[in-house]
Amino acid sequence: MKLGKRFMVKPHTRLRLGEFDPDDTAGFEKGGEAHARLEKNISRMEDLQYRLYAESRHALLIILQGMDASGKDGTVRHVMSGLNPQGCRVTSFKVPSAEEASHDFLWRIHQAVPAHGQIGIFNRSHYEDVLVVRVHQLVPKSVWSARYDQINAFEKLLDENGVTILKFFLHISKEEQKERLEERLQDSARNWKISPADLKEREHWDDYVKAYETVLSRCSTSAVPWYVIPSNKKWFRNLAVSQIIVETLEQMNPKIPKATFDISKLRVR
Ligand code: ADP
Repeated sequence: MKLGKRFMVKPHTRLRLGEFDPDDTAGFEKGGEAHARLEKNISRMEDLQYRLYAESRHALLIILQGMDASGKDGTVRHVMSGLNPQGCRVTSFKVPSAEEASHDFLWRIHQAVPAHGQIGIFNRSHYEDVLVVRVHQLVPKSVWSARYDQINAFEKLLDENGVTILKFFLHISKEEQKERLEERLQDSARNWKISPADLKEREHWDDYVKAYETVLSRCSTSAVPWYVIPSNKKWFRNLAVSQIIVETLEQMNPKIPKATFDISKLRVR
């Protein structure tokens, strides 16, 4: 079975994260075939990106969400290593600036959507506006609860205008997060990646699970589905994400445009 099909969240289903095993590896084992497949995916992505750029009729937007230490940065680093930087841009969404906060929540997002021919990667996204914002009640419930429909409408607009969207939820267990945060505390080279706020956020784990369950249940649509990626094992996370990106680009099937003039009449002097 294609990995995309296996990990896609069926539209309009009530999802419980407890039913998804973050240790799942779809029958793959570390090393060997899994490693070879990742390498193949990365080089395949390079070719498909080239064609996407040449054709310039469609864009691919990859959205990465997940709890702290779920591997959003690592996914960008490993999986995107084969992409040509000229044709892709990574945007990391932080606490909105004063200017961003004075607009609607999708304003800053829309500006970062990739142009046709480009691949855009969002490290966090507009989903923060129904995740952190909901967990910490940064706006009233009446405001954040209207956003699921607004997000679906926004993504539909993009999809209908040539932007294919892939949404990955990097699913780790609470125990795995503990181990990763402890590693960050112990390794001086990685201390910078941790703050007291991260440890405080961990106390809200159950609230985040609830908020993610609503996102995955309400915002997985047939045109723009969510994928729950088992991410306790980094090697499998990289394999699954790269595989689904390749499957999606292959389905988009970008083609090198034909010359609009008679090539045989051209001479380089
Ligand atoms: P990282 O993504 O590596 O964790 P930071 O440590 O700078 O980067 O965290 C970014 C922070 O910005 C996160 O705590 C995230 O919840 C917050 N954030 C992102 N978008 C929003 C938003 N729309 N409203 C409030 N906080 C947000």
